[in-house]
Amino acid sequence: MQHIVIIGNGISGITTARHVRKLSDAKITVISAETDHFFSRTALMYIYMGHMKYEHTKPYEDWFWKKNRIELKRAYVQSVDTNAKSLTFSDGEKMAYDKLVIATGSKSNKFGWPGQDLKGVQGLYSYQDLETMEEFTKGISRAVIVGGGLIGIEIAEMLLSRNIPVTFLVREKSFWNNVLPKDESEMINRHIREHHIDLRLNHELKEIVSDENGRVKSILTGTGEEIPCQFVGLTAGVSPNIDFLKNSGIETKRGVLVDPFLKTNVDDVYALGDCAEFITANGERRPIEQVWYTGRMMGEALARTLCGKPTKYEPGHWFNSAKFLDIEYQTYGWVWPQPKANENDFYWEHENGKICLRLRWDKSTGKLLGVNNFGFRLRHHAFDNWFKQERTVEYVLEHLKDANFDPELFKTYEQAIVDQFNAENKTNIQLKKKSWKRILELVSN
Ligand SMILES: Cc1cc2nc3c(=O)[nH]c(=O)nc-3n(C[C@H](O)[C@H](O)[C@H](O)COP(=O)(O)OP(=O)(O)OC[C@H]3O[C@@H](n4cnc5c(N)ncnc54)[C@H](O)[C@@H]3O)c2cc1C
Repeated sequence: MQHIVIIGNGISGITTARHVRKLSDAKITVISAETDHFFSRTALMYIYMGHMKYEHTKPYEDWFWKKNRIELKRAYVQSVDTNAKSLTFSDGEKMAYDKLVIATGSKSNKFGWPGQDLKGVQGLYSYQDLETMEEFTKGISRAVIVGGGLIGIEIAEMLLSRNIPVTFLVREKSFWNNVLPKDESEMINRHIREHHIDLRLNHELKEIVSDENGRVKSILTGTGEEIPCQFVGLTAGVSPNIDFLKNSGIETKRGVLVDPFLKTNVDDVYALGDCAEFITANGERRPIEQVWYTGRMMGEALARTLCGKPTKYEPGHWFNSAKFLDIEYQTYGWVWPQPKANENDFYWEHENGKICLRLRWDKSTGKLLGVNNFGFRLRHHAFDNWFKQERTVEYVLEHLKDANFDPELFKTYEQAIVDQFNAENKTNIQLKKKSWKRILELVSN
């Protein structure tokens, strides 16, 4: 019987294992150095905030794995010998494989800052990070977060839930402005400050200073200012967790290089999820995709390939969602920080400064290219289908009520959005009434 060995029990590795089991009788082993069972990494913050227990973050009961003949091994893979088709664990034990799947995720970036390995200085990625954060934030009087991205804002929210004052150092002149257009980025700057977070834009970390016990006591910024703190969250991005593949013959760049079938340069070795890097990027998508749902989609495709039905990873239209404290954000298609030469741009913001919508569309065809919405929810299926159907911005605005996920709240925004659009673009778009027939068609497609 074939032995499929999967390194990593995150969403990518586990989806692969579950779908291989649906399609074949192969022996499956899933290895993880982190936890015995798969859990939702995206829910880590809620454990710290007391909204959930670790048990609640496990999507499957512990008996599920045995019942489905998926063997779980808690161990760290130290090296891979692709000639002998075997792995070596940190305790020297070996394991043979017929097919190997690398799904080892990411690790938090550290850029060689002095003091970056002191006690109380860490990223937030693993379950162990959550444990150390728990330990080192007890009773402290200030924390500093370095790096303005989605994990940084999560750490800020976690600390605020325990009334720990936070200073947030962001190198850029506005929050997440390498992803967000100026208006949205500035909305988030304001929102962060309204939550009494000491947001320092244009600020870099220079050094982390130790006390006499090897624990952080302060940081120094690029301008020489010293900020006393007892915890430092390093959230300047993540990168593929693949150091153990050195000398394995598996080609890597930033991540493990793969083709559209998630196959590496070595026969019978595959990689997916956060640790994989596409040799050729898929359209406008990044060569490394570090999001939950793409790991799952890759896992479904790879399982078919492993079971003799070669299947490319074809993710469809980009979407993503996140939360900036209590403002929810969704994005569909492509909204770049600056519109490209062929793109038109529309931005509407509610007077409360917490809700906004941006649309981008092609200048010559009018086709919708991207949407950002903050502070209210839009139906994913609606936009996915409208992109597939290559709908124009005017069609989308006419049917905006069909995308409405939150009828009571959203009711008043649609007309305001369309009125502003008409005024700015000299159009005469009339909002259509919400149609459940059309919504059902969108959802079932
Ligand atoms: C705090 C936080 C919040 C997030 N929120 C969101 C969100 O809201 N939406 C979203 O889309 N994404 C979010 N993400 C990103 C998302 O969680 C990742 O994209 C996703 O978990 C990656 O899944 P993966 O299966 O590729 O890898 P991982 O989940 O990282 O799993 C890899 C596993 O492999 C193990 N491993 C690594 N190397 C070895 C080795 N040598 N031997 C044995 N085991 C090894 C690791 O310990 C880990 O358990 C968040 C991430 C974090 C950290």
